Amino acid sequence: MNSNDHNAKDDSAAILTGAGVGHGSAILPDRPGLVAEYWQGAQEKKLLLQRCCRCSNCWHPLSDVCGACQSFDVEWFPSTGTGSLYSYTVVHHAVHPIVQGWVPYTLCLIELDEGPRILSTLEPESGQEPAIGTRAHLEFRSIHSGFQLPVFRLLPNRKDNP
Ligand SMILES: [Zn+2]
Repeated sequence: MNSNDHNAKDDSAAILTGAGVGHGSAILPDRPGLVAEYWQGAQEKKLLLQRCCRCSNCWHPLSDVCGACQSFDVEWFPSTGTGSLYSYTVVHHAVHPIVQGWVPYTLCLIELDEGPRILSTLEPESGQEPAIGTRAHLEFRSIHSGFQLPVFRLLPNRKDNP
């Protein structure tokens, strides 16, 4: 691979340098269409999901077509931002300079109450070992010049919190 093989626009990412986020650069999405709508929602602190207007199927990640009935009649709606921890792993190696200051961090798969599972990160909680099935709620982390990244935080385990 030579340097001409990598074109940030073709890879649907904007590479921003500096700006005081650790050291290195941030790779932020700037693809038009579905991805732009999704990330615009995130900047407004909304986690947008898609739903089929024909059969009510709900999904993530993004798609122009319903996977259940193949309808293109699709609408956006904001998630409640609640769900349960489906799986996780702790990342100890920074695969990009932007996350150098984050390691170790917890990459998680949250099963949203609306049904879809979403890959995200867990906000750190000192002394709390993640347990599969623990309830979680959406928050937003400002990572680069105010860019909002959807993240999740586990709720304390209580008897009234199934
Ligand atoms: Zn459908």
